[in-house]
Amino acid sequence: MNSPYMGNFRVTQEYKGTAHDGLDLVGIDSKEVHSTVNGTVQIARWENPDNHSQGFGQFVAVRQDNSDDWYYFGHLSEIKVAVGQHVRITDVIGIEGSTGRSTGSHCHYCVRTGGIRGQHRNISEISGIPNTLGIYDDGYRESKNTVSKNVTLTIDGVTYCGTLTSQ
Ligand SMILES: [Zn+2]
Repeated sequence: MNSPYMGNFRVTQEYKGTAHDGLDLVGIDSKEVHSTVNGTVQIARWENPDNHSQGFGQFVAVRQDNSDDWYYFGHLSEIKVAVGQHVRITDVIGIEGSTGRSTGSHCHYCVRTGGIRGQHRNISEISGIPNTLGIYDDGYRESKNTVSKNVTLTIDGVTYCGTLTSQ
């Protein structure tokens, strides 16, 4: 199961295709919203800067690497990334909130091919999050002790790139 929360969360509204093109999720352990894919931030802004209660409010869309699937994280209280930034699974992209058309703090989590409204895919099937109201654990906590980081070091004019992993 691949959720934006890394821990326990609640499904408060199911995926219903055109009627509701994503899952509404509420973090229990934490309100940090993490990227669920490796990809590039395409959108990180208010849906309507002049009306903060419209649409997704503050939201982030990440286009998955080698794919045209855009992953949306809506209704954020804070955005932690910028357009063009490459993010990896587990990177914090924002904080759950209730901006936009929302009655309580939650994250609208959906996938739209090409970033086009109406081109939604079944986020429940893709993520493994049950399309049923309830509380779930995405199982990420066990891996929180392991931190991987891409590093670049330049020594005497020579640049070294690699991945550091702590266990
Ligand atoms: Zn929703």
